[in-house]
Amino acid sequence: MANPIFSSLPTTIFEEMSGLARTLGAVNLGQGFPDDPGPEAIRAKAADAVVNGYNQYPPMAGLPDLRQAVAAHYARTQGLDLDWASEVTVTSGATEALAAAFFGLIQPGDEVVVFQPFYDSYLPIIRRAGGVPRLVSLQPPHWRFERAMLEAAFTERTRFVVLNNPINPAGVVLPEADLALLAEFCVARDVIAICDEVWEQVIFGNAVHRPLIAFPGMRGRTVKIGSAGKMFGLTGWKVGFLCAAPAIARTLARAHQFLTFTTAPHLQAAVAFGLETGADWFAEMPRTMARARDRLSAGLVREGFAVLPSQGTYFLNLDLPASGVDEPDRAFALRAVKQAGVASIPVSALYEEDPVTSVLRLCFAKSDSVLDEAVGRLAKARELSLKAKL
Ligand code: PMP
Ligand code: GLN
Repeated sequence: MANPIFSSLPTTIFEEMSGLARTLGAVNLGQGFPDDPGPEAIRAKAADAVVNGYNQYPPMAGLPDLRQAVAAHYARTQGLDLDWASEVTVTSGATEALAAAFFGLIQPGDEVVVFQPFYDSYLPIIRRAGGVPRLVSLQPPHWRFERAMLEAAFTERTRFVVLNNPINPAGVVLPEADLALLAEFCVARDVIAICDEVWEQVIFGNAVHRPLIAFPGMRGRTVKIGSAGKMFGLTGWKVGFLCAAPAIARTLARAHQFLTFTTAPHLQAAVAFGLETGADWFAEMPRTMARARDRLSAGLVREGFAVLPSQGTYFLNLDLPASGVDEPDRAFALRAVKQAGVASIPVSALYEEDPVTSVLRLCFAKSDSVLDEAVGRLAKARELSLKAKL
């Protein structure tokens, strides 16, 4: 009776792990969300808009103030020249923006190149839209792609490629050379890139985010997707942005109008305010996140764990075998949450084929005391895992 694409899906790993953490009272380094409540001035703005503002349907494409603020933000931070009126649509989170792009653009039989590991909404929606995913597997420790991998994945039926950069769960900010290579493929083969750039603002140290839309030949063939949830550490808000040249943007807006039509106006108003006044936040937030990353990393290394580098996102990855853990990631993650009280994400859950089972993802967007507690619990989980082997 039900569509098998959805009826055969498990509950997402994020919900599974957060559910276990809630039930078991575990420290939750699984699903990616900060334990900080987020910028107070922006939350106050949203509250004020609920009480004193407009509570009816906002315009379908989003509040003009927010669309203008998005275009101005990307002009300031990434040198883009987006026209707010014809190129920016507000969505209910990046998840909806992705769905609008897939439903709006894909025709049955179109091949869509997707890199795994991936955000887990991609494949079901691509398939429901009639697309045929062609997977490229990224591998630790560098998680990068090469020409031969693209040559193997792109065929004459390829119409789209989905790129997540900075990469969740890898914590990689792709270098210019990799992006230039992908842009070269898109232009040569007349392919549209759907770019999930929700982590663009959460990058550390010298890392620079380069939007694929700015590469030669890409301006008219790229959909750029952002998320205020990640920009401001307000993941429950689900306010996203879809940016594309007018011909594509019009079609995306048609899909958006029948997915959600609009997004809560108060949150839109508050995000517009955040983008206009957020210079200090955008400077400080990555420094705070990098300090948390370094604290978790140092604690884990002290306990004898091996960690992979993280240049962006909220995530740090453990190399399990190099950390002395022989179990596959999912078995270890279940042991850690059930027996040691710490939730994580086994990265294998974000692959469809030939999963990497040696990497455990940890969210470091937490207070010092939570991170320190988690380190102790992960050490306990490893001890239990070693004992179980004997
Ligand atoms: N894409 C990626 C890569 C993500 O990590 C996330 C959220 N964790 C999303 C999309 C979804 O963003 P939103 O919450 O705005 O729907
Ligand atoms: N993308 C978030 C993460 O990686 C989770 C989002 C969700 O739970 N759907 O943790």
